[in-house]
Amino acid sequence: MKFQPDKPPVFAETPESLALRLAQRNEPSFRAGQVFKWIYKERARSPDQMTNLPRPLREWLSANFDFAPNTPVLGTDSSDVTRKILQRLRDGSLIETVILRAPRTGKDNEKARTTLCVSTQIGCAYGCRFCASGLKGWKRDLSAGEIVAQVMSALENKAADTLDNLVVMGMGEPLANYDNLIAALRILNAPWALGLGARRMTISTSGIVPKILTLAEEPLDVRLAVSLHGSTNAVRDKIMPINKQYPLETLLPACKTFAEKHGRMLTFEFILIAGVNDSIDQARSLAKIAREIHAHVNLIPCNPVAGLPWKRPSIARQQAFTHELHSCGISVTLRREKGTDIAAACGQLRLQVENGEANQSLQRGGPKSAQGNALGYHYH
Ligand code: SAH
Ligand code: SF4
Repeated sequence: MKFQPDKPPVFAETPESLALRLAQRNEPSFRAGQVFKWIYKERARSPDQMTNLPRPLREWLSANFDFAPNTPVLGTDSSDVTRKILQRLRDGSLIETVILRAPRTGKDNEKARTTLCVSTQIGCAYGCRFCASGLKGWKRDLSAGEIVAQVMSALENKAADTLDNLVVMGMGEPLANYDNLIAALRILNAPWALGLGARRMTISTSGIVPKILTLAEEPLDVRLAVSLHGSTNAVRDKIMPINKQYPLETLLPACKTFAEKHGRMLTFEFILIAGVNDSIDQARSLAKIAREIHAHVNLIPCNPVAGLPWKRPSIARQQAFTHELHSCGISVTLRREKGTDIAAACGQLRLQVENGEANQSLQRGGPKSAQGNALGYHYH
């Protein structure tokens, strides 16, 4: 399904595309630069605020482009540093964006470091067995303009006045919406927009091999995180249907190619699920893979999703798994979760709202009472 908005979002425009439209009106090309300055530097939400533009031009811009970022409909605060925002798109669809704040180290430790976790699709077609995003299947891709608008909308939240890192780990499989994602990241990276460095952007994928190889050739030097979650085909097959299409023997060489092209470590994400992938044998084969590719391993205790049977292993078992990797010389982190008292799992909050389960107290920011034990997860 493709959604056609009444007016194209201005957030999908580039200096070239906007200058072309402006030229049809015989406007000088420097006007495009002025418009972008208003949008990205001054954070103007409407051409009415663009006081150095002639009135007819402002009216034309209003009539021809959508300037408003997505509409925030719900915000949750967790007791730690995570804030989750639900945004409504023009067709009424809901997407989730997470703001994470971590204290800075060193000189600049007054201000928190802000990471945004963004969604790229509504739902997901890949149906990983443990994931809330895929439970209702895939509805549609976000357009490039919607992805940029998502970031701009999140930046209006006072918890995210600055942006240090962007992680594409929200709802959806980013590499299944490749062209729109790259177009959006290029805009966010551009000096005339946010100027966010590509190395501050991380894309997480469940392992779409041809797209990993295309991304490896991309001039935009982003980081890659691969959701492994099983270090043998037998285990990965059980929980990630994509492994049938791209099993480890095709996925791992693609990871290696990416790492070599970019000259930087990639990350393997590995959620620990009790009795499924938490054995010492899995840790050993994971260590072998990580050593071969020279990758960092990010272990995340899995979070329960309503209606799904998975449980996280005991702390002792999580630590034994971590220790095994350590002792094999692998760079590994066991994540302390952020946002565990809100439905921080991308896909979970939307599911609760669509199922009518999120109540008033959630909207007032009383997440514990609203969510009961519907724990969320986050992985940065
Ligand atoms: N589709 C991409 C990015 C979005 S999912 C991907 O799969 O990588 C982002 C991360 O959340 C992935 O590593 C995913 O496996 C993980 N995840 C999904 N459900 C989870 C759960 N219940 N507990 C912990 N992590 C989960
Ligand atoms: Fe889709 Fe990623 Fe969830 Fe798998 S883990 S269903 S690929 S969002």
